[in-house]
Amino acid sequence: MCPATPASPLPAVHRVLALPEAGPLTERFGRTALTESVRAILAQARRQLADGAEHPRQDVDAAWVLARAGKALEAAARPSLRPVFNLTGTVLHTNLGRALLPAEAVEAVAAVLAHPSNLEYDLERGRRGDRDDHVEGLLREITGAEAATVVNNNAAAVFLCLNTLGLRREVVVSRGELVEIGGSFRIPDIMARAGCRLREVGTTNRTHRRDFEEALGPRTALVMKAHTSNYEVQGFTSSVPEPELAALAHGHGIPFVVDLGSGSLVHLEDWGLPAEPTPGDTLAHGADLVTFSGDKLLGGPQAGLVVGRRDLVARVKKNPLKRVLRVGKETLAALEAILRLYRDPDRLAERLPTLRLLTRPEADVRRAAERLRPALARALEGIAVVEVAPCSSQVGSGSLPVDRLPSACLTLSPAHRRQGEGTALKRMEQALRALPVPVVGRVADGALRLDLRCLEPADEPAFIGQLGQLARALAG
Ligand SMILES: *Cc1c(COP(=O)(O)O)cnc(C)c1O
Repeated sequence: MCPATPASPLPAVHRVLALPEAGPLTERFGRTALTESVRAILAQARRQLADGAEHPRQDVDAAWVLARAGKALEAAARPSLRPVFNLTGTVLHTNLGRALLPAEAVEAVAAVLAHPSNLEYDLERGRRGDRDDHVEGLLREITGAEAATVVNNNAAAVFLCLNTLGLRREVVVSRGELVEIGGSFRIPDIMARAGCRLREVGTTNRTHRRDFEEALGPRTALVMKAHTSNYEVQGFTSSVPEPELAALAHGHGIPFVVDLGSGSLVHLEDWGLPAEPTPGDTLAHGADLVTFSGDKLLGGPQAGLVVGRRDLVARVKKNPLKRVLRVGKETLAALEAILRLYRDPDRLAERLPTLRLLTRPEADVRRAAERLRPALARALEGIAVVEVAPCSSQVGSGSLPVDRLPSACLTLSPAHRRQGEGTALKRMEQALRALPVPVVGRVADGALRLDLRCLEPADEPAFIGQLGQLARALAG
């Protein structure tokens, strides 16, 4: 302590720790952490005094210090990665963790994490097995592929296929498909890192059969098609149909590889949703390998799936990079549980959260908005006007980019416009994000919009339960 400081008005550490309220805090965080925290709070108060705070707090007593120390420990104990309410209206939100797993998949993950498993062990023969075996059969059954393998994500799947089949050779792609997916996945960059030479053909809006024909030669390793999953080229456009591209590639004795991106495993039209190509259809069109994500429309864990010809999948699996990009047992457990749900399409929309959220009827979302409006209006009384309004959700994660799903939201408009609408909106957004289960919405047209599509009835009590804290935060 600074010797020039007059007799300290601060309590001693041992006095703070002797308070009866210190007992439960010690129990929860441990004596060492609590003592450290108390010291830190005292040091901070001491600095403030030394800095010449002319009116030092009158209430810097032992109880105040202990309460502050407890709060600091609580904040530090909160996990960094935790659940939020996704009310952005984007169902597969990459920044918010994409697809949600149903209880059966979560249970399957918990079981293999807490216990030894037959991850790479053939229980029948009592010898080493292959981790892909747990899902390959299901993937073959669902897509009609001869073989399948799984890696960390679809970016890894594309990279691995290119590196395996196209190293130091040319890969022919249409200029209309040199896609960039958010978060630094760009076909030309992946291709360069995979050691392939990109041979672009055609133009942004039109690519013809003859463009491919002219490019194919002895240096060509494969023909690639990338699904333009996060944009659509409209107007004067032309592309070569998959069966034609496949025939062209096969005529030159080279494979045709399709990066499908999202790759729904079912025909979404059957559920009244916009159509999205499936891996099964793409294989039927003549693709030799198809890659797609596990956590987009498939509705599973983060993973990259490669399905297609047995000999090519075998080559992909022999690439040492397969070992670099392999998935853990938690991914396989979740993926297997999810793929099993596809065996019963009649109940898929009820059991698979992604499909359930995407097919949730507008009227159902609107009823939820009407149910929740009074509680939110009460919590924000005098701060914001809360109304039910129509809105459009989107699929997200580069799936079905131009299609919108009619939905309903709660709009939160600042009550006092003269105070600066932007500031009031920002404070409200911040307060919602600071809740124990942070609420993430979207600002548009001078209001904060909470699209309720992804707030399922089972989660409503948790949502309403924390609104009291919102009122307190905004009042303070
Ligand atoms: C999403 C996407 C990827 C990347 O997949 P991740 O699973 O995010 O790694 C690659 N290609 C296309 C066409 C995509 O839509």
